[in-house]
Amino acid sequence: MPKISKLAVLTSGGDAPGMNPCIRSVVRTAIYNGLDVTGIRRGYQGLIDGDMYQMETRSVSNILNLGGTILKTARCLAFRTDEGMELAYQNIKKHQIDAMVVIGGDGTFTGALRFSQKYPDVAVIGVPGTIDNDLYGSTYTVGFDTATNTVIQAIDKIRDTADAHDRLFFIEVMGRDSGAIALRAGISCGAEAILLPEKETAIDDLIENLKNGQRKKKSSSIVIVAEGDKHGGAYDIAKIVEKEVKNYDIKVTILGHLQRGGSPSAFDRVLGSRLGFAAVNALIAGESQKMVGLEANHIKLTGLEEALTQHQFKLEEDLMQMAEILSI
Ligand code: ATP
Repeated sequence: MPKISKLAVLTSGGDAPGMNPCIRSVVRTAIYNGLDVTGIRRGYQGLIDGDMYQMETRSVSNILNLGGTILKTARCLAFRTDEGMELAYQNIKKHQIDAMVVIGGDGTFTGALRFSQKYPDVAVIGVPGTIDNDLYGSTYTVGFDTATNTVIQAIDKIRDTADAHDRLFFIEVMGRDSGAIALRAGISCGAEAILLPEKETAIDDLIENLKNGQRKKKSSSIVIVAEGDKHGGAYDIAKIVEKEVKNYDIKVTILGHLQRGGSPSAFDRVLGSRLGFAAVNALIAGESQKMVGLEANHIKLTGLEEALTQHQFKLEEDLMQMAEILSI
């Protein structure tokens, strides 16, 4: 088992609330175990640029409650190239780093796996940090709970005004490939319909459903549209529906980036802390090319390769059916 002495931590891809508690956990677990810790700014871009600094216990004071990521994040094209990876490796060698914790989504893990296959002397463990909740090997990803709660709070407010005016609202939420936020928010807010990338909704059925709601004297209707829905965004769907559904004032709200921000929920603070702790312990135990996740409330290690190949967007049919029944 190769002994590690210096560990680096970075956040990459889309930011997610709970990344800071995770960074804090990585830094303090590593220091507790006698390791040096280097923080890399702006994900793989910082690795290529050599934008890194030594982190101490106090570097992560008072960050549990902060959204975003104190290490900043980036989408880095150069890391996809062999030249970019070589520059990153040179910087890692220069700073005598022998292990990395990467916090991000599937793109981040793809980069981490390629990198550690090319340079196996650098051990890498991934922590699922993405609001999309779309990674195999962890029931929940860091950030998903907070983002869903943010969406729910916004939709509750929209419901008030929709009800007062007999309005039909199409609300677009994040999720290019994943309807996880849309589905949970739809159930939590009693949406009349939920449109997801994983399932093509027949527009005729949607129209019939909304007309039924009118017949049953519903005073407002909410349709949640995940941004990756096959029919396009909320504006596109609203345009189609307004030709058929009369006597409803139709409005569209795109929730956008507010879904990424805000103080992490208790769930995400605990999840981020647990996964950060587990990531460092896995590296100390000699693991590499794995993702730490939480399943049935237990820490589980999944090979990055497996996490990525099994990674598929599975629709939770039972939840979808329940949401339909409960919105009658
Ligand atoms: P989110 O799910 O929140 O979008 P993500 O980690 O999937 O997060 P991406 O932008 O897809 O976000 O990926 C993050 C970074 O990982 C990319 O900017 C790039 O630097 C790196 N990356 C992605 N795919 C590859 C690849 N095939 N090879 C090398 N690096 C990659």
